[in-house]
Amino acid sequence: MSIAGLSQHLYRVSQRAVWLHGARRVSTTTTGIMSTHTNAKRIEGLDHNIWVALTGLAADPSVVNLGQGFPDLPPPSYITAALAKAVSVDRMNQYTRSFGHPALVNALSQVYGKVCERPIDPLKEVLVTVGGYGSLFCTMQALVEEGDEVIIIEPYFDCYIPMVKMAGATPVLISLKLKSEKQSGLTSADWVLDPEELASKFTSRTKAIIINTPNNPTGKIFTRDELQMISDLCIKHDALCFSDEVYEWLTYKGHQHIKIATLPGMWERTITIGSAGKTFSVTGWKLGWSIGPEHLVKHLQTVMQNTIYTCSTPLQEAVAQGLVRDYERLGQPDCYFSSLAAELEDKRDRMAAILREAGMNPILPEGGYFIIVDVTPLNVDLSHMPDEAYDLKFVKWMIKEKKLAAIPVTAFCGEASRSRFEKYIRLCFIKRDETLDAAEDIIRNWKN
Ligand code: PMP
Ligand code: GLN
Repeated sequence: MSIAGLSQHLYRVSQRAVWLHGARRVSTTTTGIMSTHTNAKRIEGLDHNIWVALTGLAADPSVVNLGQGFPDLPPPSYITAALAKAVSVDRMNQYTRSFGHPALVNALSQVYGKVCERPIDPLKEVLVTVGGYGSLFCTMQALVEEGDEVIIIEPYFDCYIPMVKMAGATPVLISLKLKSEKQSGLTSADWVLDPEELASKFTSRTKAIIINTPNNPTGKIFTRDELQMISDLCIKHDALCFSDEVYEWLTYKGHQHIKIATLPGMWERTITIGSAGKTFSVTGWKLGWSIGPEHLVKHLQTVMQNTIYTCSTPLQEAVAQGLVRDYERLGQPDCYFSSLAAELEDKRDRMAAILREAGMNPILPEGGYFIIVDVTPLNVDLSHMPDEAYDLKFVKWMIKEKKLAAIPVTAFCGEASRSRFEKYIRLCFIKRDETLDAAEDIIRNWKN
């Protein structure tokens, strides 16, 4: 089947599938016999997933997909060339070291040693696993205990909640709030934490706080003062910090990404999570890493050795070569980490201009490759649709009627915060100009 044929097929299948909230609770076997087995308690209530639901719908080739976050730009040619070369070497096609291919952990220790201004032991302070997802999962399974509480900042990358629950712990939510009343001209820096509210979330049961900077979906980059406030609370309550920094290189003019692990007293209590998919625009490669002190990382390594064991050798070799290449160019314009951010800044500004011109209120991101926008000025009446969060209805309607896919921001928050976030949708702008042209056409002709 051709790629186009396959995506048509997937689209038809997904059209038949139940969308989001309508999933079946009782399973049948392939022979059609009702299964008497029920799910394990730890996955109770975790059967809905926004990405699974939406990737199917957005696979319709007539839909312009600014939903799921992946580039449709080509990755840097040196990294795909390095992969082709790696697979041509026989031994590269066999298992490699469990906790990370030697070339890759060495490259990671070089890059992060420089960024963190401290030596990083490639064997004891680094774990390579399956994407940022795998890194988050190994971290939670290794360090979070049944009965613990884990503080999560809304809006959050959606998998944090299920991962905390699967570890047997309780997520404790706190929302970012807009510090300004104004409707237009907002940036992601306007989303802030209330210091007193944050302090009130820490209890004797708090095991960790998860932070994500640059943030998905808002694009917020936490400032040094904000990180200091979080650090002070972690130290005071002897809590850990899981810092998801998969968009660490994607910062726009005037903004600097700071690693919380570099603040005084934080290295010892922080696991920093990164992703090759985000770093080199190869989300399908699914390699990620956790970096932190040996006394924490050794427990993540225990999870890794007994679950996934090891990741793909040639992919790790290619990412290692890419990191070494860009390490040598750090701070120079031809370093991919900075050249990609420069390219994306133009796309961000273009996307924001398109949205503003259509009468919407985008919140300009300081980093990452998503922009969130208040769509209520469009006054789309969706009262005929079943009662759900407005943004979810809006996205379903927009995919069907306008052939444009986005992600509802309530997918990144708890039920109690629905009213704060349901006027926003998230659009991904790491796309070729032609894709953005197609989105622009749809938005310009909105009223037709
Ligand atoms: N964290 C955040 C904030 C993300 O947006 C993503 C999605 N890429 C991940 C983690 C997972 O990364 P990966 O694709 O490398 O598993
Ligand atoms: N991290 C990406 C996003 O936020 C993709 C997540 C996924 O596909 N599971 O869009």
